[in-house]
Amino acid sequence: MPEPINESGADVLDVVIVGAGPAGLTAGIYCSRGRLKTVILERNMAGGQIALTDLVENYPGFPEGISGFDLATKMKDQAVKFGAEMREIEAVSELRKGADGCYVVVTDREEIRARAVILAPGVEPRRSGIPGEAEFIGRGVSWCATCDGALYRGRTVAVIGGGDSAVEEGMFLTKFADKVYLVHRRDELRAAPIAQERAFANPKFEFVWDSVPKRIDGDELVEALEVENVKTGEERTLPVNGVFMYIGQIPNTAWLKDTVKLTDLGHIVTDDLLRTELPGVFACGDARANPLKQIAVAIGEGALAAVQAERYIDDLEAPPSGATNASGDGAASAGTQR
Ligand code: NAP
Repeated sequence: MPEPINESGADVLDVVIVGAGPAGLTAGIYCSRGRLKTVILERNMAGGQIALTDLVENYPGFPEGISGFDLATKMKDQAVKFGAEMREIEAVSELRKGADGCYVVVTDREEIRARAVILAPGVEPRRSGIPGEAEFIGRGVSWCATCDGALYRGRTVAVIGGGDSAVEEGMFLTKFADKVYLVHRRDELRAAPIAQERAFANPKFEFVWDSVPKRIDGDELVEALEVENVKTGEERTLPVNGVFMYIGQIPNTAWLKDTVKLTDLGHIVTDDLLRTELPGVFACGDARANPLKQIAVAIGEGALAAVQAERYIDDLEAPPSGATNASGDGAASAGTQR
């Protein structure tokens, strides 16, 4: 097993991984199996968005599906088993280069120095900003059907959005609610066809097409959602006890805006080997500018980022004459197995 990491932060770690979703946890598994001193920092609990997902059906190896929470827990246990140190409820606010060439990762508890950093901060739900949204958080407005769905047994709820999250989480809500309005700004869903088929076949769904939410009303708790038809301008009041927002996700990268290159939407820009423009800083998962936000993609990127970090550290240690090139083609060594 690797040596225990000095809690004081005086020691320099090999790798700090920021974020413990599927990408960060996979990077943790690979780094720790590579015998790198590795700490994974997570501002909430390990798992990221999947820990809030009722059932994951498209991750290979689980033909019956697996609960997102169980999958996240297994990934975390696997990383810890091989020696990664998991620090939850610890938020990172800054990344900078120290005078000694190491990176300094600043959290709300400490400053940690590491030779390489893997950024896997993930995403969080986008807020609509409509009146009532902020006021009724915890009193009928939610972004997590898995967490709050059981509170709506026998009630009526609205789900906003037409993507995979809205349709899948709306389907989950039909286990409890008597009726689920799905409010979508177009007349066609974005979600995967299999999810759409199930939703259209579920009599508890009522689809409110071409409509956007305008206002959430209530007294102590949510009582109604005002929606507007974007084609006709007609307004309608939906009598609901809960509103679940699934209108997309934004990357957790605001703290990185002056540190690494981000896209206009805030995703981290890397090359094909997941290198940011800072040597030794890699990025992976949903916060990276990649074309597909899926667990399977995040897993692959986590593995690649870890192997790239390992090579970067190897090159730091190698004598100049025999050094391999960290900026080489990234081809795996023959026989490499982790
Ligand atoms: P998403 O795919 O970006 O969908 C967001 C939905 O909200 C879209 O239907 C969009 O409408 C609508 N929307 C966006 N802004 C809006 C606004 N201001 N007002 C009203 N509606 C608005 O987000 P997501 O469903 O959270 O999924 C995020 C990513 O995770 C996706 O890549 C998705 O495939 C993936 N994911 C995968 C799974 C799975 O594989 N099982 C499960 C969950 C999420 P338009 O359609 O008109 O743009």
